Amino acid sequence: MMHSSSINTRLWLTYTMIIFLVLTFASAGIIFAFQRSPLLYRQIFLRMDLVSNLLTDRLSFVINADWDPTIQLFFKEAELLDVQVAILDSSGTLLFHTMDYSVDQIPQINDPFTTAERSADRALVFNDAEKEDWFYQISQINDAYYLLVAARRPDVAIQSLFQDELVKPLLRTGLFALIGAFVLSWLMAEWITRPLRKISESAKNIAVGKYEKVPIEGPMEVQQLALAMNDMSQKVEKSLQSQRDFVANVSHEFKTPLTSIQGFSQAIYDGTVHNKKDIQHASDVILNETNRLNVLVNDLLTLAKLDAGTMSMTKESVELNRLMQSSIERFYYELEKADIKINPVFSDEIYLYADAVRLGQVFSNLIDNAIKYSIPGSEIQVTISRQGRQAMVTVSDTGPGISEEECARIFERFYQVDKSRQGGTGRGVGLGLAISKQDVEAHGGEISVSSKVGEGSTFMVKLPIEDATNK
Ligand code: ADP
Repeated sequence: MMHSSSINTRLWLTYTMIIFLVLTFASAGIIFAFQRSPLLYRQIFLRMDLVSNLLTDRLSFVINADWDPTIQLFFKEAELLDVQVAILDSSGTLLFHTMDYSVDQIPQINDPFTTAERSADRALVFNDAEKEDWFYQISQINDAYYLLVAARRPDVAIQSLFQDELVKPLLRTGLFALIGAFVLSWLMAEWITRPLRKISESAKNIAVGKYEKVPIEGPMEVQQLALAMNDMSQKVEKSLQSQRDFVANVSHEFKTPLTSIQGFSQAIYDGTVHNKKDIQHASDVILNETNRLNVLVNDLLTLAKLDAGTMSMTKESVELNRLMQSSIERFYYELEKADIKINPVFSDEIYLYADAVRLGQVFSNLIDNAIKYSIPGSEIQVTISRQGRQAMVTVSDTGPGISEEECARIFERFYQVDKSRQGGTGRGVGLGLAISKQDVEAHGGEISVSSKVGEGSTFMVKLPIEDATNK
C-alpha cells in the first residue's frame, strides 16, 4: 500500500504550525514592545515631570535670596517622590544636589536644551560610576540656573519578565489552540474525506459492475469530483451496455447466414439434395448468404476503423453535385427494376474537402434505403443547396416514414425499425446509417432525419464547404 499521510494528519500539522508561528510572532512582538515601550517607566517619568515642574516654578521665586534652607526643604520633598535633584549653573557646575555620584558623568549637562528631545517614548539616560542607568531631564529655572531631575531606571530583565508574565499564558493559549486545532482538523477532515470515501467506494463498485450515483456533497472541488464520477460511471455503464448489445447483435447477424450455409452444404455433402435443380438452389443460398456475411464483415471492419480513427481518408477537393450524380448512376438498374425515378435538384458547383469514396458511400446508402422503402412508380427527391458556409444534401422518399422515437434511434448500430420489413435476404443489418453518421462526422458534418409516418422520410446531410481553413 502507498504510504501517505491522511488529510486529518496534514490539517493537524498545518494548524499546529500556524499556532506555533502565531504564538512565536506574538511573543516576539510583545517582547519588542516591552523593550521599547515606556509602559514600565511611565510612572517614573510622571514623578520626574511632577518634581521638575513643581521645583522649576518654586525655585524661580527663591533664587538669589537666602535659598539654601528653602532648597533643602524642596529637595526633601523631591526625595519623598524617590527622585534625585540637582541645581546647576549655566556652565554645568553643580551647586546643590541630592545625588551620591559624580555629576561629571552626566552627559549633555552643558547643553540643557537637549531636554527637549525627551518624548513620551524615550528618556535621556546616563550611567553613573556604578554602571547604573539613570533617567534624567534638565529644565531651566532662569538665565543662570538649571534644574536636573533624575531617577534610577528600574532593572527589568526582559528574560524574567518573559518568564514571569508571558510563558504561562502563552503555554496555556497554545495548549487550548492545539486542542482546538485538533478538533477543528478532525471536523474539517471529516467534511472533506467523508464524501471522498463515498466516491472511492463508488469507484470500487464500478470496477465490479455496480453503477450507483455518488451523493453531491462536501467542498466544491469534491462535489465536482462526485459530478464527474457520476457522469463517468453513467458513460461507462452505457458504453458497456452498448458493447454487450453490439456483440449480441453481431453474433445474431452471423448466426442466421451461417446456419443456412451449414445446412445447405451439409445437405449437398450428405447427398440429400441430388438433382441439379436442388443443388442449384442450395448453391444459390450458400452464395447469397456468403455475400451477406462478406458485406457484414466489411461493414464491421469499416465501423471498427472509424471508431479507432484508423480509417484512411484521402481527402481532396470534391465537387458535390458530380459526386451525387455518380452515386445516383450506380443505382440505374435498381431504379429501372423498381420503376422508381430520381429527381435531382442540384445547385451551382460546391467544392468540399472530402474523401470521395466515403462520402459517395454515404449518398449511396441514403439512396439505397430510399429505393428500398419506396413503392414502384414513386419518385425520390435529391437536392443540393448552399447554406452559408455549409452544403445541404437531402434525400427524400415517399415511403412508409419513420416514427419520432425511431428517428432518434435509426443511427444506432444494428437498429432496424422493422426487421421483417426487408425479408431475410435483404442486404441491411442496420449498420448502414451508423456508418454514414460516422463518415459524415469524420468530415465535420451532421446527418439527421425528418419523417412523417405514412408520408415519407427526408435524410439531411450538412457538410462544411471547402475553404482554406478546413483543409
Ligand atoms: P439497413 O441496413 O437496415 O438499411 P440502415 O442503418 O441503413 O440499415 O437503416 C436503419 C433502419 O432505418 C432501417 O432498418 C429502416 O428501418 C430505417 N430506415 C432507413 N432509411 C429509411 C427510409 N428511407 N424510410 C424508412 N425507414 C428507413
